[in-house]
Order: sequence, then structure tokens, then C-alpha cells
Amino acid sequence: SSQVLPAADPPAECGIKVVCRVRPLNENEEKTGSKFIAKLQTDDSISLGGKIYVFDKVFKPNVTQEFVYTSAAKQIVLDVLSGYNGTIFAYGQTSSGKTHTMEGVLGDERLQGVIPRIVNDVFNYIYQMDENLEFHIKVSYFEIYMDKIRDLLDVSKTNLAVHEDKNKVPFVKGITEQFVSSPEEVIDIMMAGKDNRHVAVTNMNEHSSRSHSVFLINIKQENLENQKKLCGKLYLVDLAGSEKVGKTGAEGVVLDEAKNINKSLSALGNVISALADGNKSHIPYRDSKLTRILQESLGGNARTTVIICCSPASFNESETKSTLQFGQRAK
Ligand code: ADP
Ligand code: MG
Repeated sequence: SSQVLPAADPPAECGIKVVCRVRPLNENEEKTGSKFIAKLQTDDSISLGGKIYVFDKVFKPNVTQEFVYTSAAKQIVLDVLSGYNGTIFAYGQTSSGKTHTMEGVLGDERLQGVIPRIVNDVFNYIYQMDENLEFHIKVSYFEIYMDKIRDLLDVSKTNLAVHEDKNKVPFVKGITEQFVSSPEEVIDIMMAGKDNRHVAVTNMNEHSSRSHSVFLINIKQENLENQKKLCGKLYLVDLAGSEKVGKTGAEGVVLDEAKNINKSLSALGNVISALADGNKSHIPYRDSKLTRILQESLGGNARTTVIICCSPASFNESETKSTLQFGQRAK
């Protein structure tokens, strides 16, 4: 019989939303006889191995990119434009659909993912606002690999440090911040950053599955009539693959990478779950670079959406189960 793990409504002050996206079976899974084992009946639950997991939303394999954006991300954009900070991150094993969800096919109106849609909405919003509001939008793009921060907009910056400003807000010291004035410009920057990510990497898919990629949109607005200022930061994170390495007898660099990813993903899980529990006394932000950077944009007044990405295939059952458990901890 199925055991229900209920997800309580988040308390008013806790802005963490967890949604789950299940991709279709891929060709390889179909060829090798993998079965579609995730059971998707309602629009907020998924059942796997006799357990039901409830989230704010569960997206079935046939949902469109637009639908995912509208139901999982659009509200955060409005919040950031109102001066809140926010974070959206995609969690899941390699090839579960994280990059498809966050980025999708850049430049393709139907298949573009959450980030380009956010960018479009930000500019649409600005274009509609009256003229005495002045906006300054800047973006940064970096990756965290083996706990080192590499600037994807300037490859000469390979190991940047996290510092704190005078208000004790952590930031990446020296990171490139590029002012932008149109969605097209942002897409060009993303593409250039992706190209830079390929530099000095032999296998891009492998590399991207072992590093976190972070796209930051910083929005400042000033009302020219009353000088009132609003600031909002939105972090968009495509996490390293969450799969366990070890059964293949990993060693050397691969093992170091795996330990590193494991450490930073558990640090993130611990922060999110402490926030979800309303444990305000100690949130272990300092346990990883990623959580330090995200400190002001996770919990507190910030809006957070976790998109857990799942393969439906029998072959991936144990990884999918651990992904669902990660998502459940955030509730
Ligand atoms: P990850 O970033 O988690 O490693 P990807 O986003 O690269 O995974 O997805 C792996 C492959 O599956 C890609 O070819 C991608 O286009 C495809 N894919 C992922 N999610 C979906 C989906 N919801 N619908 C159709 N294809 C998908
Ligand atoms: Mg990816």
C-alpha cells in the first residue's frame, strides 16, 4: 500500500516552493527496455516504488516549456521586480532534464527554458513601466567546479573568492558584471558564456554534469521623481548531477569530483531543509561556496523555487528516489 508523505503548506515567511518535473523516456531507455515507472496521477504528486511524494506541482512529461515557466518561475520574476531576492535551481541526476528546464534551446521560442523566458519578462515589464522609473540590469555568469569559481564571461578569472560587503552580504569578488539593455543581448551573453565553458574541457557533457552553473540577474530601479530605489537579485542555478559515483570503482579526479559534488549538494540540502523547518537559529550557509553565495537569496525574505528533475525510467529508479527525497526535505 502507498504511504503518503504530506507536504504542509509553507509557512507565510518561508518562501520555498518545490516542483518536480518528469521528462519522457529517452530513446536509449526505450531501446534498452527500461519501463516508465513513475506514476503521475494528480498534478501535485508522484508515486514511485509504492511511495507517494507530494510537491507544490508535478509536471508530467508532455508539459510545455512555457507551462513550466508560467507555473514555476513567473511569480519569482514579479517578486524580484518588487525588490525581493530569489533563487531558482534545478536538481537531479545527469540527463534528468536540468539544462533543458533552465536553459532549453536558446533562441527557440517554443523550446527555450526558464532563464530566457525570465529575461523576456523582465524586459517586457520594463518596457511597460512609465518613464520616470530608471532600470539598471546587469548579469553575471559563472560556474563552480571543485569548489572553485570560474567566471564564464572572462576566462582569465578562474578562481574567484567569496567576500562579504559592509552589510555582511556575500558576493563573488571580481566577477564580471555586464550591463544589458535587451533580451537579445542577454542571450548573446549566455551563448558566449557557454562557449567559454567549453574552453579547456574535453567532454562538455561530462564537465557540465560535474559543475554548478550560476546565472545571476541583478535588477536595480530608481524612481526619478522621489528617488526611491529597489534592488532585486535572481540566481538561476543548474546544479551538478546528483548521481552517486562509486559503483564503477571511481578513483583519482573522478572520485575527487564526486566527493566534492556530494559535499556541496548535501550542504545545499541542509540549508534548504533547515529553512523549510523554520530553523532560524542556525542555517549552515557557510558549509559550501554555493550556499554562501546564495545566502541572501535563499530563505528569509527571499523567494526560492527548487525544480527537481526526474527520469521516469526503471533503470534510474534509485537515483529518482533519492532526487524525490531531496525535494521532500525542502518541504
Ligand atoms: P541534465 O542537464 O539534467 O543533464 P538535459 O537537460 O541535458 O539533462 O537533458 C538530457 C536530454 O534529455 C537532452 O537531450 C534534453 O533535450 C532531453 N530532455 C530533457 N528533458 C526533456 C523534456 N522534458 N522533454 C523532452 N526532452 C527532454
Ligand atoms: Mg545539464
